[in-house]
Amino acid sequence: MHTDFSTSLNSTQDEIRDKFTPKKNNSQYLSAIYAHIGEESRSRRVFHCADILEFALSENEHKLFHADFCKDRFCPMCQFRRSLKVFGQVSACMDELDKDMEGYVYLFLTLTIKNPSLDDLEQGFLDLKCAFNRLLHRKAFCDVVCGGFYSIEITCNSSRSEFHPHIHCILAVRKSYFHKSYISQAKWAQIWQKCLKVDYLPVVDVRRVKGAIFDGSRVDYSRVVAEIAKYSVKDKDFLILDDIALSERVLSKLVSTLNYKKMCGFFGCFADVRKRLQLDDIENGDLVNTDNNAIRIDVATLVVTYRWTGGMYSVARTGSNSALVVTSAAEPAGRRAKSPFLTQVQSVGAPDPR
Ligand SMILES: [Zn+2]
Repeated sequence: MHTDFSTSLNSTQDEIRDKFTPKKNNSQYLSAIYAHIGEESRSRRVFHCADILEFALSENEHKLFHADFCKDRFCPMCQFRRSLKVFGQVSACMDELDKDMEGYVYLFLTLTIKNPSLDDLEQGFLDLKCAFNRLLHRKAFCDVVCGGFYSIEITCNSSRSEFHPHIHCILAVRKSYFHKSYISQAKWAQIWQKCLKVDYLPVVDVRRVKGAIFDGSRVDYSRVVAEIAKYSVKDKDFLILDDIALSERVLSKLVSTLNYKKMCGFFGCFADVRKRLQLDDIENGDLVNTDNNAIRIDVATLVVTYRWTGGMYSVARTGSNSALVVTSAAEPAGRRAKSPFLTQVQSVGAPDPR
Protein backbone atom coordinates (compact mmCIF):
# COMPACT_ATOMS: atom_id res chain seq x y z
CA MET A 1 0.00 0.00 0.00
CA HIS A 2 1.36 3.45 -0.87
CA THR A 3 2.15 5.65 2.18
CA ASP A 4 1.70 9.39 1.92
CA PHE A 5 4.49 11.15 3.85
CA SER A 6 3.57 14.70 2.83
CA THR A 7 2.14 15.64 6.27
CA SER A 8 5.15 14.43 8.26
CA LEU A 9 7.59 15.80 5.65
CA ASN A 10 5.99 19.24 6.00
CA SER A 11 6.14 19.14 9.82
CA THR A 12 9.81 18.07 9.66
CA GLN A 13 10.55 20.95 7.31
CA ASP A 14 8.76 23.37 9.68
CA GLU A 15 10.84 22.18 12.63
CA ILE A 16 14.06 22.53 10.62
CA ARG A 17 13.12 26.08 9.63
CA ASP A 18 11.71 27.31 12.97
CA LYS A 19 13.83 25.47 15.55
CA PHE A 20 17.05 23.98 14.17
CA THR A 21 18.08 26.68 11.69
CA PRO A 22 18.00 29.68 14.13
CA LYS A 23 19.84 27.62 16.77
CA LYS A 24 22.44 26.49 14.23
CA ASN A 25 23.00 30.10 13.13
CA ASN A 26 23.55 31.18 16.76
CA SER A 27 25.90 28.24 17.32
CA GLN A 28 27.98 29.42 14.36
CA TYR A 29 28.19 32.87 15.96
CA LEU A 30 29.19 31.32 19.31
CA SER A 31 31.89 29.34 17.51
CA ALA A 32 33.35 32.61 16.16
CA ILE A 33 33.32 34.21 19.64
CA TYR A 34 35.03 31.12 21.12
CA ALA A 35 37.77 31.45 18.49
CA HIS A 36 38.22 35.12 19.45
CA ILE A 37 38.70 34.32 23.16
CA GLY A 38 41.22 31.53 22.49
CA GLU A 39 38.89 28.55 22.99
CA GLU A 40 39.84 26.94 19.67
CA SER A 41 38.80 23.37 20.41
CA ARG A 42 35.41 24.46 21.75
CA SER A 43 35.05 26.68 18.70
CA ARG A 44 35.61 23.72 16.34
CA ARG A 45 33.22 21.43 18.21
CA VAL A 46 30.44 24.02 18.34
CA PHE A 47 30.97 24.90 14.67
CA HIS A 48 30.16 21.34 13.61
CA CYS A 49 27.32 20.78 16.11
CA ALA A 50 24.34 19.14 14.39
CA ASP A 51 25.84 19.43 10.89
CA ILE A 52 23.74 16.37 10.06
CA LEU A 53 20.22 15.69 11.27
CA GLU A 54 18.45 12.43 10.50
CA PHE A 55 14.72 12.11 11.00
CA ALA A 56 12.56 9.00 11.01
CA LEU A 57 9.13 9.56 9.52
CA SER A 58 5.86 7.68 9.66
CA GLU A 59 2.72 8.79 7.86
CA ASN A 60 1.78 11.29 10.57
CA GLU A 61 4.86 11.73 12.77
CA HIS A 62 8.53 12.57 12.59
CA LYS A 63 11.29 12.09 15.15
CA LEU A 64 14.96 12.99 15.24
CA PHE A 65 16.91 9.77 15.55
CA HIS A 66 20.50 10.74 14.79
CA ALA A 67 22.63 13.89 15.16
CA ASP A 68 26.08 14.72 16.50
CA PHE A 69 25.49 17.37 19.14
CA CYS A 70 28.62 19.02 20.59
CA LYS A 71 27.16 19.16 24.16
CA ASP A 72 28.91 22.44 24.90
CA ARG A 73 27.22 24.19 27.83
CA PHE A 74 26.70 27.44 25.93
CA CYS A 75 25.90 26.01 22.49
CA PRO A 76 22.45 27.37 21.58
CA MET A 77 21.61 24.17 19.65
CA CYS A 78 22.51 21.95 22.62
CA GLN A 79 20.79 24.24 25.12
CA PHE A 80 17.61 23.87 23.09
CA ARG A 81 17.90 20.08 23.12
CA ARG A 82 18.84 20.00 26.82
CA SER A 83 15.79 22.04 27.78
CA LEU A 84 13.60 19.47 25.97
CA LYS A 85 15.39 16.76 27.91
CA VAL A 86 14.84 18.49 31.27
CA PHE A 87 11.18 18.92 30.35
CA GLY A 88 10.88 15.23 29.44
CA GLN A 89 12.62 13.90 32.55
CA VAL A 90 10.96 16.16 35.12
CA SER A 91 7.53 15.47 33.57
CA ALA A 92 8.21 11.72 33.67
CA CYS A 93 9.21 11.91 37.35
CA MET A 94 6.11 13.89 38.31
CA ASP A 95 3.82 11.53 36.39
CA GLU A 96 5.40 8.64 38.29
CA LEU A 97 5.22 10.39 41.69
CA ASP A 98 1.51 11.02 41.08
CA LYS A 99 0.99 7.24 41.25
CA ASP A 100 2.14 7.26 44.90
CA MET A 101 -0.76 6.20 47.15
CA GLU A 102 -0.09 8.79 49.84
CA GLY A 103 0.21 11.49 47.24
CA TYR A 104 2.35 14.60 46.83
CA VAL A 105 1.68 18.23 46.13
CA TYR A 106 4.33 20.43 44.57
CA LEU A 107 5.80 23.82 45.40
CA PHE A 108 7.64 26.09 42.98
CA LEU A 109 10.39 27.85 44.92
CA THR A 110 12.68 30.58 43.58
CA LEU A 111 15.76 31.57 45.59
CA THR A 112 17.81 34.66 44.81
CA ILE A 113 20.89 36.53 46.00
CA LYS A 114 21.87 40.18 45.69
CA ASN A 115 22.79 40.83 42.04
CA PRO A 116 26.56 40.63 41.47
CA SER A 117 28.41 42.63 38.81
CA LEU A 118 30.16 40.79 35.98
CA ASP A 119 33.43 40.92 37.95
CA ASP A 120 31.75 39.44 41.05
CA LEU A 121 29.70 36.83 39.18
CA GLU A 122 31.97 33.90 40.02
CA GLN A 123 31.79 34.56 43.78
CA GLY A 124 28.04 35.21 43.61
CA PHE A 125 27.49 31.91 41.82
CA LEU A 126 29.58 29.99 44.39
CA ASP A 127 27.71 31.65 47.28
CA LEU A 128 24.41 30.60 45.69
CA LYS A 129 25.49 26.97 45.25
CA CYS A 130 26.97 26.67 48.76
CA ALA A 131 23.82 28.15 50.30
CA PHE A 132 21.63 25.72 48.35
CA ASN A 133 23.74 22.81 49.56
CA ARG A 134 23.19 24.03 53.13
CA LEU A 135 19.44 24.27 52.48
CA LEU A 136 19.30 20.62 51.38
CA HIS A 137 20.69 19.62 54.78
CA ARG A 138 18.68 22.00 56.92
CA LYS A 139 16.23 20.36 59.34
CA ALA A 140 13.39 22.79 58.56
CA PHE A 141 13.73 21.83 54.88
CA CYS A 142 14.23 18.08 55.31
CA ASP A 143 11.26 17.82 57.69
CA VAL A 144 8.77 18.90 55.01
CA VAL A 145 10.38 18.35 51.60
CA CYS A 146 10.39 14.77 50.24
CA GLY A 147 12.44 15.58 47.15
CA GLY A 148 12.66 17.78 44.13
CA PHE A 149 14.41 19.10 41.06
CA TYR A 150 16.52 22.29 40.99
CA SER A 151 17.86 24.35 38.13
CA ILE A 152 20.24 27.32 38.30
CA GLU A 153 19.62 30.19 35.92
CA ILE A 154 21.68 33.33 35.28
CA THR A 155 20.04 36.32 33.63
CA CYS A 156 21.38 39.84 33.21
CA ASN A 157 20.28 43.38 32.48
CA SER A 158 20.58 44.85 29.00
CA SER A 159 23.93 46.59 29.67
CA ARG A 160 25.34 43.36 31.20
CA SER A 161 26.47 45.39 34.22
CA GLU A 162 24.38 43.35 36.68
CA PHE A 163 23.76 39.63 36.76
CA HIS A 164 20.98 37.72 38.45
CA PRO A 165 21.93 34.16 39.43
CA HIS A 166 18.97 32.34 40.98
CA ILE A 167 17.64 28.86 41.60
CA HIS A 168 14.25 27.46 40.61
CA CYS A 169 13.06 24.31 42.39
CA ILE A 170 10.07 22.04 42.12
CA LEU A 171 9.61 20.52 45.59
CA ALA A 172 7.44 17.52 46.48
CA VAL A 173 5.72 17.82 49.87
CA ARG A 174 3.02 15.66 51.44
CA LYS A 175 -0.62 16.75 51.25
CA SER A 176 -0.58 17.43 55.00
CA TYR A 177 1.94 20.27 54.41
CA PHE A 178 -0.72 22.96 54.12
CA HIS A 179 -2.38 22.25 57.48
CA LYS A 180 0.43 20.61 59.51
CA SER A 181 3.83 21.96 58.51
CA TYR A 182 3.18 24.97 56.27
CA ILE A 183 6.12 27.36 55.75
CA SER A 184 5.13 30.92 54.82
CA GLN A 185 7.04 32.90 52.19
CA ALA A 186 8.47 35.12 54.98
CA LYS A 187 9.72 32.01 56.79
CA TRP A 188 11.25 30.62 53.57
CA ALA A 189 13.11 33.92 53.17
CA GLN A 190 14.47 33.64 56.74
CA ILE A 191 15.61 30.05 56.18
CA TRP A 192 17.29 31.06 52.91
CA GLN A 193 18.95 34.05 54.61
CA LYS A 194 20.50 31.69 57.19
CA CYS A 195 21.76 29.41 54.39
CA LEU A 196 23.28 32.39 52.56
CA LYS A 197 24.78 33.74 55.82
CA VAL A 198 23.99 37.34 54.83
CA ASP A 199 22.65 40.32 56.77
CA TYR A 200 19.98 41.26 54.17
CA LEU A 201 16.67 39.45 53.68
CA PRO A 202 16.91 37.81 50.22
CA VAL A 203 14.01 37.75 47.75
CA VAL A 204 12.26 34.38 47.79
CA ASP A 205 9.14 33.37 45.93
CA VAL A 206 7.15 30.24 46.75
CA ARG A 207 3.86 29.11 45.30
CA ARG A 208 1.83 25.96 45.05
CA VAL A 209 1.96 24.24 41.67
CA LYS A 210 -1.51 23.84 40.26
CA GLY A 211 -1.62 21.30 37.45
CA ALA A 212 -4.46 21.00 34.97
CA ILE A 213 -6.45 17.76 35.14
CA PHE A 214 -6.80 15.85 31.88
CA ASP A 215 -7.97 12.36 30.92
CA GLY A 216 -10.22 12.43 34.01
CA SER A 217 -7.45 11.97 36.57
CA ARG A 218 -3.93 12.65 35.23
CA VAL A 219 -2.47 16.03 36.07
CA ASP A 220 -0.65 18.15 33.51
CA TYR A 221 2.23 20.14 35.05
CA SER A 222 3.65 21.31 31.73
CA ARG A 223 3.44 25.03 32.52
CA VAL A 224 5.59 24.84 35.63
CA VAL A 225 7.93 22.23 34.14
CA ALA A 226 8.47 24.51 31.13
CA GLU A 227 9.43 27.28 33.57
CA ILE A 228 12.13 25.16 35.19
CA ALA A 229 13.33 23.70 31.87
CA LYS A 230 14.45 27.11 30.60
CA TYR A 231 18.06 27.55 29.52
CA SER A 232 20.58 28.09 32.33
CA VAL A 233 21.94 31.10 30.45
CA LYS A 234 20.03 32.50 27.48
CA ASP A 235 22.17 32.88 24.36
CA LYS A 236 20.88 36.43 23.80
CA ASP A 237 22.61 37.39 27.07
CA PHE A 238 26.10 36.50 25.79
CA LEU A 239 25.70 36.57 22.00
CA ILE A 240 25.29 40.29 21.49
CA LEU A 241 25.09 40.67 17.73
CA ASP A 242 26.10 44.35 17.54
CA ASP A 243 28.86 44.21 20.18
CA ILE A 244 31.48 41.50 19.70
CA ALA A 245 33.79 42.90 22.40
CA LEU A 246 31.01 42.73 25.01
CA SER A 247 30.06 39.20 23.83
CA GLU A 248 33.67 38.13 24.35
CA ARG A 249 33.89 39.69 27.82
CA VAL A 250 30.62 38.18 29.05
CA LEU A 251 31.27 34.76 27.52
CA SER A 252 34.80 34.58 29.00
CA LYS A 253 33.41 35.28 32.46
CA LEU A 254 30.54 32.81 32.08
CA VAL A 255 32.92 30.08 30.87
CA SER A 256 35.25 30.56 33.85
CA THR A 257 32.32 30.78 36.28
CA LEU A 258 30.36 27.76 35.08
CA ASN A 259 33.09 25.38 33.88
CA TYR A 260 32.71 21.99 35.54
CA LYS A 261 29.69 23.16 37.56
CA LYS A 262 26.42 21.31 37.73
CA MET A 263 23.46 23.50 36.84
CA CYS A 264 20.57 21.19 37.69
CA GLY A 265 19.80 17.97 39.52
CA PHE A 266 17.32 15.72 41.27
CA PHE A 267 17.19 14.88 44.98
CA GLY A 268 15.10 12.78 47.37
CA CYS A 269 12.00 11.09 45.92
CA PHE A 270 12.64 12.70 42.50
CA ALA A 271 16.11 11.05 42.40
CA ASP A 272 14.61 7.68 43.45
CA VAL A 273 12.00 7.79 40.70
CA ARG A 274 14.55 8.90 38.15
CA LYS A 275 16.71 5.89 39.02
CA ARG A 276 13.72 3.57 38.77
CA LEU A 277 12.87 4.97 35.33
CA GLN A 278 16.53 4.53 34.27
CA LEU A 279 16.73 8.04 32.87
CA ASP A 280 20.17 9.03 31.62
CA ASP A 281 22.34 11.97 32.76
CA ILE A 282 20.32 15.14 32.44
CA GLU A 283 23.21 17.43 31.53
CA ASN A 284 25.58 15.17 29.60
CA GLY A 285 23.26 12.44 28.34
CA ASP A 286 21.70 11.78 24.96
CA LEU A 287 20.39 14.96 23.31
CA VAL A 288 18.72 13.11 20.43
CA ASN A 289 16.03 11.21 22.31
CA THR A 290 14.82 13.93 24.68
CA ASP A 291 11.32 12.67 25.54
CA ASN A 292 12.18 9.13 26.73
CA ASN A 293 10.18 7.58 23.90
CA ALA A 294 11.88 5.10 21.61
CA ILE A 295 11.32 5.24 17.88
CA ARG A 296 8.61 2.94 16.62
CA ILE A 297 10.61 1.16 13.95
CA ASP A 298 7.51 -0.70 12.83
CA VAL A 299 5.71 2.50 11.84
CA ALA A 300 8.64 4.74 10.85
CA THR A 301 9.40 3.78 7.29
CA LEU A 302 11.19 6.77 5.81
CA VAL A 303 14.52 8.35 6.79
CA VAL A 304 15.31 11.92 5.75
CA THR A 305 18.84 13.27 6.23
CA TYR A 306 19.53 17.01 6.37
CA ARG A 307 23.00 18.49 6.00
CA TRP A 308 24.12 22.02 7.00
CA THR A 309 25.77 23.55 4.00
CA GLY A 310 26.04 27.12 2.73
CA GLY A 311 24.29 28.54 5.81
CA MET A 312 21.19 26.36 5.61
CA TYR A 313 19.88 22.83 6.10
CA SER A 314 19.19 20.97 2.86
CA VAL A 315 17.91 17.45 2.29
CA ALA A 316 20.98 15.30 1.58
CA ARG A 317 19.29 11.92 1.35
CA THR A 318 15.90 10.27 1.56
CA GLY A 319 15.72 6.54 2.05
CA SER A 320 14.03 3.52 3.56
CA ASN A 321 14.20 2.64 7.24
CA SER A 322 17.04 0.08 6.96
CA ALA A 323 19.51 2.72 8.30
CA LEU A 324 17.13 3.37 11.18
CA VAL A 325 17.15 -0.27 12.29
CA VAL A 326 20.97 -0.38 12.36
CA THR A 327 21.40 2.92 14.24
CA SER A 328 18.71 2.41 16.85
CA ALA A 329 19.80 -1.14 17.65
CA ALA A 330 23.41 -0.07 18.09
CA GLU A 331 23.00 3.11 20.12
CA PRO A 332 20.76 4.65 22.75
CA ALA A 333 19.20 1.77 24.74
CA GLY A 334 22.42 0.32 26.19
CA ARG A 335 23.86 3.73 27.03
CA ARG A 336 20.71 4.86 28.80
CA ALA A 337 20.46 1.76 30.97
CA LYS A 338 23.97 2.21 32.36
CA SER A 339 23.72 5.92 33.10
CA PRO A 340 24.26 7.07 36.69
CA PHE A 341 21.73 9.15 38.57
CA LEU A 342 22.27 12.00 40.97
CA THR A 343 21.77 11.67 44.67
CA GLN A 344 20.69 14.37 47.06
CA VAL A 345 24.05 15.76 48.07
CA GLN A 346 26.15 14.72 45.13
CA SER A 347 23.84 16.61 42.79
CA VAL A 348 25.11 19.93 44.15
CA GLY A 349 28.71 20.82 43.49
CA ALA A 350 29.73 17.61 41.75
CA PRO A 351 32.21 18.20 38.95
CA ASP A 352 30.89 18.59 35.47
CA PRO A 353 32.82 16.14 33.28
CA ARG A 354 32.85 18.54 30.35
ZN1 LIG B 1 26.01 21.96 20.33
